[in-house]
Order: sequence, then structure tokens, then C-alpha cells
Amino acid sequence: MYTGTSNRVFPLKGIKPIEVLQAIEALLAERQVKIEYGKTWQGWGENNELSFKEGDLVESDFKIFALGGGSWKVTGSDGSWLSAFADKGIETIPFQASNCAYTIDWDEDFMARHEGAPLKNVAISCGRKTQKGEAVITKQGMEGNAIYALSPIIRQRLKQGQSATIYIDFKTTMPEGRVFSKLKRSHDQKVSDSLKNDLKLSTTQIALLKAYLSKEEFLEKDKLAQKIKAFPLEVIGASEIDAAISTVGGISLSEVDENFRLKAYPQQYCIGEMLDWDAPTGGYLLQACFSMGYGLAEHLNGE
Ligand SMILES: Cc1cc2nc3c(=O)[nH]c(=O)nc-3n(C[C@H](O)[C@H](O)[C@H](O)COP(=O)(O)OP(=O)(O)OC[C@H]3O[C@@H](n4cnc5c(N)ncnc54)[C@H](O)[C@@H]3O)c2cc1C
Repeated sequence: MYTGTSNRVFPLKGIKPIEVLQAIEALLAERQVKIEYGKTWQGWGENNELSFKEGDLVESDFKIFALGGGSWKVTGSDGSWLSAFADKGIETIPFQASNCAYTIDWDEDFMARHEGAPLKNVAISCGRKTQKGEAVITKQGMEGNAIYALSPIIRQRLKQGQSATIYIDFKTTMPEGRVFSKLKRSHDQKVSDSLKNDLKLSTTQIALLKAYLSKEEFLEKDKLAQKIKAFPLEVIGASEIDAAISTVGGISLSEVDENFRLKAYPQQYCIGEMLDWDAPTGGYLLQACFSMGYGLAEHLNGE
């Protein structure tokens, strides 16, 4: 592995994802872990055994559930386990999309020309949260790491029946005063040329400003500078759950103790995305799941 500039660790360049998986599988085989494929857990038997759709009942010293969230059902994480836990009196929370595309009612002309275009090196804010990164313009709205990270606050606002206004900073390296003086000192007659030549904005960024600002905002340099640093857009909805990278909801955190043990059912544990927590994608979801698995294994070693 190597450590990237963000301090995160990655497999060495050239190593394919399948090779990482194979290395993990080899380690598990060496430790005599037995994996049974094609079994669907459906609930508990009369004596608290694990009950599988295929007819098996499995008794064990400890039971660790890591059944995933409720999106991308095609991967097997279909969230159908929720009702089995709810029937046992464990508090469950309905799934909601997180780290997902958000819906924007785009101007038709803008969409016809800029669908699929990236907005690079931007920072997007909602409420007090700001995230630098990239976003892609899609037919439905916008997706990408800069907006995924705002999921908790956007979701909260949409849930309260409000639309969520996001603000895009197109020029993260310059304060507003500098943007203003660049516009003011520009030798270009046309505002679009000045945005392109002096501020190096992309065609899509310029088109966004043109499509959404009033004539006055576009032509008056102080107003334009302000909008370049905080360009407002209304988010009116979130993508459907199945298309989301992750979900929140699942088993309420109040049902588990600090070792992820179900308080009502000792010897049974829940970890991973099936618990109700949230994180931005980009490794943080995976890291949190790995850390929970590691932490629980350490705990059980000491039992
Ligand atoms: C397209 C996509 C891209 C992603 N990219 C990133 C990324 O770049 N960075 C990041 O941090 N995260 C990413 N994630 C999220 C990350 O993959 C998940 O948060 C993480 O895998 C959750 O791990 P988990 O072990 O809790 O559940 P999962 O990995 O979902 O595993 C759950 C397992 O349980 C099985 N299962 C479910 N129900 C049953 C049942 N009733 N009986 C038997 N088996 C069952 C499922 O088949 C599955 O194998 C991405 C997710 C998706 C869908």
C-alpha cells in the first residue's frame, strides 16, 4: 500500500481490485474461515438459531450480522432483513438515500448543451457545511463527491419539506475581492470573455452564470463576483434509494452497545451499513465498515 496526499492508504498502483479481493480471500482461507454462498438469512428459529430460506437452522456461540444497507439491491444488499429485526422488537429506521444524486430543475437550454459536464475544483455549501471537490451535471440534477458529502444536511432540509439551496464557489483559490478586481481590470469587453480569460472559468460554469443570473447580476461586476463565489441552486429532491451509493436508516444505534452488541440479545452483534449512521463516500464508508469489523473481532478475542 501507499499513503496518498489525503493521508488515506491505497493499494500500490497497478494492483487491480480483484487482486485485493483475492488477497483477502486467501487470508481468510488460511485462517480456515468457511464461506457459504447462496444462503439467505430470513430470521431466527424457535431456539434463537439463524434461520435460512434454504431450510438450514444454524446454532452458534456468537452471531454477527453485516447485511449492508438498502441500495444497489443487485449486489445482494436488499435491506429485506429490516422486518425480521423489527418483528423481534428491535428499533429500525426506514432507509433513506445518502451519497446520492440530487435533483435540480435545470433550465432546458442549459441542460441540452451541458449534460454530463463536470464542474471541477469547486466548493459546494449547504447550511454551514462546505465541501471541495467535483460535481457532474446530470439530466436529473447533480452528483459527485462535492455534493455527496452534503447529504445529511440536504436530506434534513428536504425532509422538513423545504427545498435545499446549495451554493457553488467556482473560484475556490480566490477571495471575492480578488475575483472582483480581476473582473474590473479585465481588458475584455464581453463579460463571458473576461470570465474565460481572467478567471479561467469553464464553458459550463460560464453557461450556468448566464442561464441563472439576472442581466443586472451578470453585468455588474460586484454582483457577478459575489455569485461566482456563492452561486445558488435549488435542490428539489434526492435520487431513488436503489441508485444511492449508501443508505442511512436500518438498526437504530440506540439498540447496540459500544461493541455493537444488540442490547436486547447478548451474543448477537450488528456492524456495517445496516446500522443507522452516515459518512461521505470516498473511502469513509468502507473504512467505517472495516473498522467496525476489526473492533468487534478484537472485542470477541477478549471474550
Ligand atoms: C456503486 C457503489 C460504489 C461505492 N463506492 C464507495 C467508495 O468509493 N467508497 C466508500 O467508502 N464506499 C463506497 N460504497 C459504499 C460501500 O460499498 C458500503 O458502504 C459498504 O460496502 C457496506 O459494507 P457492509 O459490509 O456493511 O455491507 P455490504 O458490503 O453491502 O455487504 C452486505 C452483504 O450481506 C449480504 N446480505 C444482505 N442480506 C442478506 C440476507 N438476508 N442473507 C444473506 N446475506 C445477505 C449481501 O449480499 C452482501 O454480500 C459504494 C457503494 C456502491 C453501491
